[in-house]
Amino acid sequence: MTSQRFSDFDLIKPIKQALQNVGYNQPTPIQMQAIPPLLAGRDLLGCAQTGTGKTAAFSLPIIQHMARNRRTRKSGVVRALIVTPTRELAAQIYQNMEMYSRHLDVSSTVIFGGVGQGPQVKSLNRGVDILVATPGRLLDLIDQGHIDLQKLEIFVLDEADRMLDMGFIHDIRKILVHLPEKRQTMFFSATLPPNIVKLAKSMVRNPVRIDVTPEKPVIESIDQRLMLVDMKEKSNVLMNILMDEEVRKALVFTRTKHGANKLVKLLGRADIRAEGIHGNKSQTARTAALAAFKAGSVKVLVATDIAARGIDVEGITHVINHDIPNVAETYVHRIGRTARAGCRGISISLCAPEERPFIKDIEKLIRQSIPVFSEEQYLATVHLKPAPKPANRPRPKPRNRQGGGRAQNQQGRGQNRSQQGGRKNNTQGQGRRNPGKQRRHGNY
Ligand code: AMP
Repeated sequence: MTSQRFSDFDLIKPIKQALQNVGYNQPTPIQMQAIPPLLAGRDLLGCAQTGTGKTAAFSLPIIQHMARNRRTRKSGVVRALIVTPTRELAAQIYQNMEMYSRHLDVSSTVIFGGVGQGPQVKSLNRGVDILVATPGRLLDLIDQGHIDLQKLEIFVLDEADRMLDMGFIHDIRKILVHLPEKRQTMFFSATLPPNIVKLAKSMVRNPVRIDVTPEKPVIESIDQRLMLVDMKEKSNVLMNILMDEEVRKALVFTRTKHGANKLVKLLGRADIRAEGIHGNKSQTARTAALAAFKAGSVKVLVATDIAARGIDVEGITHVINHDIPNVAETYVHRIGRTARAGCRGISISLCAPEERPFIKDIEKLIRQSIPVFSEEQYLATVHLKPAPKPANRPRPKPRNRQGGGRAQNQQGRGQNRSQQGGRKNNTQGQGRRNPGKQRRHGNY
């Protein structure tokens, strides 16, 4: 049953063409297992999380169904509905749908809260085949009469366990009331505890059951590091790490929204391009930050856990825990953002003494101890090429007269070196092994 290449699937040419365009050759395990039965119209109960390729696993059969069974579009009438917990995930799924259906006359749209409903309603009025939605906005627009699900053919519930964690169970039940009995249902969840299985069973009929658990191999391809630092020193250490040129795309996690904002400001003052993403930001700002990070125009994305849920950005070289999560599983989710698609990645956790118990829990969960590095060891052994020094970085205030004189001196020498060109910075790297001399951000 399992094909090895997309060309072996019974997919129509325009879809295969789109897959070629995006450079997918080999289906992922979930795609191998899910696509054939979904194309045959079966229901599916999938235990899989973001990062496994599950979006394409459900999107390709949906697109093919729409392309093969054309209907005249009617205002507000939706033929396939994907419900997912966060705005970021919804936007991501929609982008994938658009990408895979680029050579076909299949229309999709996305709706979520936090932005005006006007453009979303307009798009629904034009008639869409595929709708990607978060629960709240979906119910709002159903209640207002902008969405008609009576003719729905395919329903996907994505990240069911997170939906329940986030308190969406009542919304899901309300949505189900609007769906016709006869439909194809695909149910995805990263975990399948009994309450989720019960919910799934109330929705699917004779489903194909698929389990893919990517967690272990992902962890194995991440170089995990632990740095023991005082809480008040964390931002300085973080800046030193981020200035290294090997850090090309870094996702930094903070515990609070306020912490994320503060950090973005600090990094900005040190000429490190960073954007924040958290629940208090407008959707427009979140989308723009994510797009800039994806495109590489912003090197650092500072995020809280909720906002970062499901974010899938290729090429994240470093995940840095500015704060250690107090839930061990969160650590696994966080660091899993690097080392995607067979690449290696680095995770660095900055741990203050009061956070040590959290690390103990994490190590118990991942069944390994995380190697401890001092800042000096880290900079010396992992990242020998420090970032060139930006010309207009703010100067540290002298601690006393003598110290001030030295600091000025260091600064001056550093500038000369960077004027000589990037490679010469190796000497600067040697110097950075002595944090006392090189603490250039001590006042932030
Ligand atoms: P998902 O689990 O759907 O969020 O997908 C994770 C990432 O893998 C996304 O960046 C996809 O674009 C990518 N991806 C999905 N399927 C494939 C494939 N067959 N080959 C290469 N990359 C893929």
